[in-house]
Amino acid sequence: MSGATVRVDVPDDSLFGPENMPYGVFAPPGGEFRAGVRLGDSVLDLPALLDDPVFARPDLNSFLAQGPAARRVVREKLRELAESPLPADAVHAVEAIRMTLPVRIGDYVDFYASIDHATNLGRLFRPDAEPLLPNWRHLPVGYHGRAGTVVVSGTPVVRPCGQHRTDSGTPEFGPSRRLDIEAELGFVVGTASRRGEPVPVDEFADHVFGVALVNDWSARDIQAWEYQPLGPFLGKSFATSLSAWITPLAALTRARVPLPPQVPKPLPYLRGTDDTGLDIALTVTWNGDTVSRPPYSRMYWSPAQMLAHLTANGASIRPGDLYASGTISGPEPGQRGSFIELSWGGTEPVIVGGAERTFLADGDEVTITATAPGTASRPIGLGEVRGTVLAAHEP
Ligand code: CA
Repeated sequence: MSGATVRVDVPDDSLFGPENMPYGVFAPPGGEFRAGVRLGDSVLDLPALLDDPVFARPDLNSFLAQGPAARRVVREKLRELAESPLPADAVHAVEAIRMTLPVRIGDYVDFYASIDHATNLGRLFRPDAEPLLPNWRHLPVGYHGRAGTVVVSGTPVVRPCGQHRTDSGTPEFGPSRRLDIEAELGFVVGTASRRGEPVPVDEFADHVFGVALVNDWSARDIQAWEYQPLGPFLGKSFATSLSAWITPLAALTRARVPLPPQVPKPLPYLRGTDDTGLDIALTVTWNGDTVSRPPYSRMYWSPAQMLAHLTANGASIRPGDLYASGTISGPEPGQRGSFIELSWGGTEPVIVGGAERTFLADGDEVTITATAPGTASRPIGLGEVRGTVLAAHEP
């Protein structure tokens, strides 16, 4: 240590005040990946600041495994430290660092918890039937995704190739022509559960560490041809982007809101005494133009119900596991969290950069950001999830 100290200035309108302090894994110039928290436009270097080797690792898994009580102690300690000058070598400018995936993800599950999204997609994919399938109001529908292709924000996404049905009804193989996004919220597991022991709704906060933004890239033409009867497969598994910062649940206490009414009443294993939604406001920008503002507060199933359902059969969870909400859409056209909804199946183009657009073109960049009420008198930010589309590698 040089002995020099520095005070971290947090502007009054910062989305990353000491009441937020999301966790990530970063490398300073010339350094190795290690854990950090964001404060204003700085990153606090946890191995340099706290004498604990658990933070010197390139993922947060071991720290998360320590459980909610240990994490509370660290958060309190960091809030105290943030009030005083800090060793200069423990503070880095956010523009100067590289970030990587904050967790090593063992399992990834994706849900379908927005009633507005499920209704819109039902109308688009099955125009002659009831938009919601008979199970939808009884359970949070989900599937197991591909953990190995979850990438950190900023990683380019190569347009996938696959089978899609042509107008003649026969399939062909080639680059997807209907590449899309899904604006979602992800939940990062902190504490493991035991195989055979479901996690009740009211034990959500004992097991989930925090939230992150997710873009679940989707190839609609591949998806439409392959998805029945077993659900999403290659139309989804090529890439899922995750924000580099994970906001701890402890920063979201003021963002808790009642769930919308659930009719019919869910089965007992999906009920809890403390079951709430989250007032998180997302913004989707496409090549810099804001095209949608999806509201998380309208999600039908709560994050606690999703966890209770995914463990209801005894399936266990491990630190670093990720489950995502599914596309977040609201009832208004400007609140739709996917481009297939925004352009209504490609029939109602969206204006991006002055031109009419439906699905993603090579070179397009999509960024999803979000804010939530914070415990101070200002909102907190959830970081961002960003990705650029690269041309397909054709066979
Ligand atoms: Ca999805």
